[in-house]
Amino acid sequence: MTEFSPQHQFAIDIVGKLRSAGHEALFAGGCVRDALLGREAKDYDVATTARPEEVRKLFGHKRTLAVGASFGVIMVLGPKDAGQVEVATFRTEGEYLDGRRPESVEFCTPEEDAKRRDFTINGMFYDPIEKRVLDFVSGAADLTARTIRAIGDPHERVKEDKLRMLRAVRFAATLDFALDPTTANAIREMSSELIVVSAERITQELKKMLVDVHRRRAIELADDVGLMRIVFPELDPIRRESEWQVTLRRLELLERPSFELAMAALLKPLSDKPVVGYVWRRLKLSNDECDRIRWLVGHQQDLDDAPRLSLAALKRTLAHPYCADLLKLVRADRIANSSNLEPIEFCEDFLARTPIEVLDPIPFVTGDDLIALGLKPGPRFKSVLVAIRDAQLNLQIASRDEAIALVKAEWNK
Ligand code: ATP
Ligand code: MG
Repeated sequence: MTEFSPQHQFAIDIVGKLRSAGHEALFAGGCVRDALLGREAKDYDVATTARPEEVRKLFGHKRTLAVGASFGVIMVLGPKDAGQVEVATFRTEGEYLDGRRPESVEFCTPEEDAKRRDFTINGMFYDPIEKRVLDFVSGAADLTARTIRAIGDPHERVKEDKLRMLRAVRFAATLDFALDPTTANAIREMSSELIVVSAERITQELKKMLVDVHRRRAIELADDVGLMRIVFPELDPIRRESEWQVTLRRLELLERPSFELAMAALLKPLSDKPVVGYVWRRLKLSNDECDRIRWLVGHQQDLDDAPRLSLAALKRTLAHPYCADLLKLVRADRIANSSNLEPIEFCEDFLARTPIEVLDPIPFVTGDDLIALGLKPGPRFKSVLVAIRDAQLNLQIASRDEAIALVKAEWNK
């Protein structure tokens, strides 16, 4: 007997229960594609003839969430290790007028539901009881041909939901498939319309592309079909320069990067401009993501110069919580530029032989100590604290008493 993952088993049980209640139920979309590719799906989606209220009744209100009941979508909550499975009524969708959700949905047959999906490889169903694939859109043939092809007329499909353009690039790149030429041409013609799609949806696709090992191809493909100038207009001048090749190489060389690290590698050529702020606002990134990208973009020079930095500056950089990503970024950048790795090796060596209490020691004095000494908070106060910390990190003072003596000397300067 085959062992299924808890979520997979839970999805099979859901199909079984819907069938016993007299409904048709099938696995749908991405999980069918992944199974045919021999991969474990990230999540399982079930499509059914049961209406949302019937799904809720069958599994109980406590075990279901009406995440998008008006669109036919109910989340069924499984045992702890199984997570949740989306159960959606077979449906056709109207236009996505607001770029987020279809204006209306109508319940329909499995075949019609298959045809409203984006790409042929994402349009198949699987019957886990009979172990049979239901393929109304020739998805299996495109999986074998390793091709991303819109279902039906690509212009029409993009017109309904412009995000599909970016999704086509994402699937082609991450699966390492070709983009069907007719689909690619439709995207080229309509690329500027991506602008109407909400930042959240664009960013979600962008994240999947940039953390994937095929991120370089994703960016090249997005560029080829005209989407880069919409998603990253700031990079327009760079894309025409030789530095672009270095950027692509740097991006490619990152090892399992976070989204922020990949973004920093992409935006690095613009480090002297306030670009991170523009991108952050346009793509609606979180403050935390923005801080991280900004810090990485802004501190590369520090690592390049590491052997020449003061001990204090070096320790500050290497003790920073984002430093591991900075090391990865500068390593990729130096290889991309055919530079030597001396500064990286210098830092790694320093980290290896410097215990944390030396790299980032407990401060001899804090703001509270300064207040106790009668100093008033303000810009001077801050610069004195920094000077004392520098002296500590530079090993110019070795005790709290020496630190306090230095506070007094600095304050009276
Ligand atoms: P992933 O593994 O990245 O989750 P996925 O194929 O499961 O890939 P989802 O975004 O989770 O992608 O969507 C699930 C399914 O819903 C898709 O396989 C596709 O059939 C359909 N779908 C999702 N987004 C769209 C869209 N914008 N237009 C048409 N169909 C879509
Ligand atoms: Mg999915």
